[in-house]
Amino acid sequence: MSEKVGFIGLGNMGLPMSLRLLEAGHAVVGCDVQESARKAFCDKGGIWADSSREVASQCAIVMASLPTPAVVELVALGKDGVTAGTKVEVFIDLSTTGPEMAKRVSQALKQRGIVAMDAPVSGGIAGAAKGTLSVMTAGPKESYERVKDLLACFGKNVFYVGEQAGAGQLMKLINNLLSATTLAASCEALCVGMKGGLDPETMLTVLNASTGRSGATEDKIPRYVLPGVPINFGLDLSFKDVSLCVEAGEALQVPMYCGRTIRQIWHHAMSKGGPDQDMMDVSRCIEDWAGVKLSGSKPASK
Ligand code: NAD
Repeated sequence: MSEKVGFIGLGNMGLPMSLRLLEAGHAVVGCDVQESARKAFCDKGGIWADSSREVASQCAIVMASLPTPAVVELVALGKDGVTAGTKVEVFIDLSTTGPEMAKRVSQALKQRGIVAMDAPVSGGIAGAAKGTLSVMTAGPKESYERVKDLLACFGKNVFYVGEQAGAGQLMKLINNLLSATTLAASCEALCVGMKGGLDPETMLTVLNASTGRSGATEDKIPRYVLPGVPINFGLDLSFKDVSLCVEAGEALQVPMYCGRTIRQIWHHAMSKGGPDQDMMDVSRCIEDWAGVKLSGSKPASK
């Protein structure tokens, strides 16, 4: 059945996700603080709104894909936010914002009779465009049943992880900390091999047929690190995920020895500069420490 869906935050992830909803035949009312998002969205049939409140006054189901917990709080609970909308019944946060924010937003929206669901995604910008994301959904089961077909427009794997607000967020943070950990550990291991005279591509072939394989060795390193091209995942966003997972672990009395080391490495990479840093820069740091160069050792694949 075709729905009118709200979409707040039409950035790297939000725009392709909203376009997939449009392609599936839904009407989508969207907004973004950056006017530049407007053209790409409206050219494909999206209906522009000037605020989150306006989106939530036109649609019963409102999704958001926003950069940080603070922005989600503002969009959900601010004066011109979702909470002030007149039509919204279900708010779905697709951003990575951590379990604490999800709980706060859920409690506050509940007072207004709005159900909040957290449904962070994994699979990157390409996955958003191709509709192959993993979606980790938490919230009331009946609301999940109501929205799961919409989530399937961009999620090949839509998981229901529990009723409790923040459960989807926790699941997502665990995934991203592990993903960051395997990237750092694999780059370090490859630097060891390279310094010892092994060829990076040969090492990857062996690792991917052996127990050392991971998403880093199968995808990120051959596709991005060795050719020296950006992963297209902002280092700041990745640092946010790692930090939120360490905080969540510590709040649950888990010492987080590995996680804290990863956060420190990410922090070091961040300190090197600029707002446009990419997750790839972590590899460059590890290469600098080792005194070898993995990146640029292979041409980029088309
Ligand atoms: P992005 O910065 O490209 O997009 C965020 C969008 O939100 C921007 O267009 C920005 O203008 C908009 N925005 C900011 N404040 C706003 C406000 N008050 N009202 C309306 N719009 C506002 O970020 P992204 O890469 O699309 O990531 C979005 C979320 O998805 C993040 O939480 C990120 O951690 C998560 N995520 C990203 C990836 C990825 O590969 N980029 C993968 C999985 C999950």
